[in-house]
Amino acid sequence: MTTTSASPAPATDAPTTGRVLLAAPRGYCAGVDRAVVAVEKALEHYGAPIYVRKEIVHNKYVVETLAERGAIFVDETDEVPEGARVVFSAHGVSPAVHEAAAARSLETIDATCPLVTKVHKEAVRFAADDYDILLIGHEGHEEVEGTAGEAPEHIQIVNSPDEVDKVVVRDPDKVVWISQTTLSVDETMETVRRLRERFPTLQDPPSDDICYATQNRQVAVKKLAPRCELVIVVGSRNSSNSVRLMEVAKEAGADDAHLVDYAKEIDPAWLEGVTTVGVTSGASVPEILVEEVLRFLAERGYGEVEEVRTATEDLMFSLPRELRGALKAAGQGSGRPEREGRRALRVEAV
Ligand code: SF4
Repeated sequence: MTTTSASPAPATDAPTTGRVLLAAPRGYCAGVDRAVVAVEKALEHYGAPIYVRKEIVHNKYVVETLAERGAIFVDETDEVPEGARVVFSAHGVSPAVHEAAAARSLETIDATCPLVTKVHKEAVRFAADDYDILLIGHEGHEEVEGTAGEAPEHIQIVNSPDEVDKVVVRDPDKVVWISQTTLSVDETMETVRRLRERFPTLQDPPSDDICYATQNRQVAVKKLAPRCELVIVVGSRNSSNSVRLMEVAKEAGADDAHLVDYAKEIDPAWLEGVTTVGVTSGASVPEILVEEVLRFLAERGYGEVEEVRTATEDLMFSLPRELRGALKAAGQGSGRPEREGRRALRVEAV
């Protein structure tokens, strides 16, 4: 059992009646860290306002904090004044969005996660080879819109295993699947299994599209969920990987699981009769929000905290090229994410 003791919750006088199993890894992934630091550095370097198309990452607290510092979040580039500077979110954008930005002479900073860009490139390559591409993902999610926009005439979206029967392809021997990066691994594999029943020569993507961070957080929550009556996932409702963590927790054996943006959203009634609470957080969640949850639980008797670690992560991406160049030219370093920048919206992991 890969558990280690940890005591991240602040001291409290409340008697300890229960305990917390704290998932690790949890919280910020390399792509989110890079995107958030990109907006922070852009604000520091160019000054406010900095426009951001869509939520930079799907987390309320992060978006509100950046907005307070001068970021202006818009839905589309036509809301950005001509010639102004706009950051594209970690979820990625389609070529049409790049074209629309160029038509308005916008200065763009592309904070698309490199692991999303990898999926875009796969789509472009398989479309060039004239494959029918089955993109497993959630219709309407920004990442899926961006990826599908790379080759709309070749890509069809498959939302779930139940949609497999609806898929229509031109040549059943020339079909490949790719996926959104933040899906449930188990459900995706079920979709692929059913697709392969229909298309036995279905080609796999060259490497996993569900990213390391999504997979690691699901593995950790799966490990602790069977020992918990309740799992609390810190994350926003529009965060795909956070919602998946809640679903995975239930499937893995937790009696109950809830998603909260903030500790204040925890209903004390959820804790009735509960001795062990699992806690984790989505890939777009700063650690400060988890600490608030731990404090809330400690004040109600859940002061003993055990970390359940299933992997260690040290991946870090360099900042978007456009920003890196500008920072370097101004003598502000190489533009690699720096400790100071990384701490701005997060408290170091406990
Ligand atoms: S969840 Fe994965 S794909 Fe999304 S930003 Fe993080 S590392 Fe990138």
